[in-house]
Amino acid sequence: MTYVIGETCIDVKDKSCVEVCPVDCIIGGDEDRMLFIDPEECIDCGACVDPCPVDAIYAEEDLPAEWDEYTAINKEYFADRESARAKVAVKVAIPVEPA
Ligand code: SF4
Repeated sequence: MTYVIGETCIDVKDKSCVEVCPVDCIIGGDEDRMLFIDPEECIDCGACVDPCPVDAIYAEEDLPAEWDEYTAINKEYFADRESARAKVAVKVAIPVEPA
């Protein structure tokens, strides 16, 4: 199991999650439109969920169905960053009001 970052992170990248992750497994560079969780490193603690102002982070089994592909996209980022970026590049950011 892992936690997964979904679509509302795109073009937001608040990074509150990065500050609380105890194993530093949430990654994203300036060139990325969103952040990604490394499923091999995530210890399923859930600490990143509440700090996210756009409700982008879910336990894998609770991920909204329309975000299904983000489980693979998060994982792929750590194997092939360009491929994962290409999948995110075609996404239209969801307009969200920070909580
Ligand atoms: Fe990091 Fe815990 Fe969130 Fe996994 S669930 S990404 S270990 S803060």
